[in-house]
Amino acid sequence: MHRNLLAALLVLFLGAAGPMTPAPGPAPGPVRIIGVGGMGCIQGAVRLPDEVPGLQTIRIARSSFWGHPETIAHLRELGLRAQAAGIADLYMGDLSGPRGGPLAGGHMSHQMGIDADVYLDLGPHPKLTPAQREALEPPSLVRADGRGIDPARWRPEHATLLRLAATLPGVDRVLVNAAIKKQLCESVTGERGWIRLVRPWWGHASHMHINFQCPAGQPECPARPPPPPPGDGCDASLQWWFDRLDHPAKPEVATGPAKPRALPAACGPIMAAPPRTGPG
Ligand SMILES: [Zn+2]
Repeated sequence: MHRNLLAALLVLFLGAAGPMTPAPGPAPGPVRIIGVGGMGCIQGAVRLPDEVPGLQTIRIARSSFWGHPETIAHLRELGLRAQAAGIADLYMGDLSGPRGGPLAGGHMSHQMGIDADVYLDLGPHPKLTPAQREALEPPSLVRADGRGIDPARWRPEHATLLRLAATLPGVDRVLVNAAIKKQLCESVTGERGWIRLVRPWWGHASHMHINFQCPAGQPECPARPPPPPPGDGCDASLQWWFDRLDHPAKPEVATGPAKPRALPAACGPIMAAPPRTGPG
């Protein structure tokens, strides 16, 4: 099974930019992001450590924690903010591979070092052994019928955490299940401007996906169009997600995000570059 997945990935690379097998570790050189819409590659990525204040990586054998240095800095800031708000250590899921490109877990985006999955499980989080971290399956916050949050799990701290994430510097969007967005729409009082950046998406019932903007100085990483105006998104565009529960779309429409695209040709040398050798 695993062998088949590797073969499929290899085919994707071969189809993308000539024969290449990604070399291990990050591609050496100045930070450079190539791609659009979450699909691409990164040179000069750095890894989020497994434990920093407020954050713990989990499912390490199945995940990848590399990103643009600014992404890593913003996530560290999220850990500090969450800690200051009295929130338990956040469990971190996938960022990107050491050089970007498709991730083994089948993620469609996460290829450019500017995406991060952060679990929304806010129960007590003691320091875990490596084996315990591998076995974690943080629970869904959404009812089985998809029409609302699970009231047994939702806590005010979830809204706090989503606000802390959406107001990080450089955030483009925070993706969550429509039921979680709906809960924010119905419950957040006071300053609500940040709700606009929290957008409904397929799945994302147990984690949020933070998508950062292309950092400055990355001309090969064009900016994404902003979320469609106007307002906070607590409107018909949100209702659409619930209407489709009543009137499921045809399967080819309902399967979610687009199929993976080929990597940009300029990613070929980045995926194939020999790893840095020697000191440093
Ligand atoms: Zn994600």
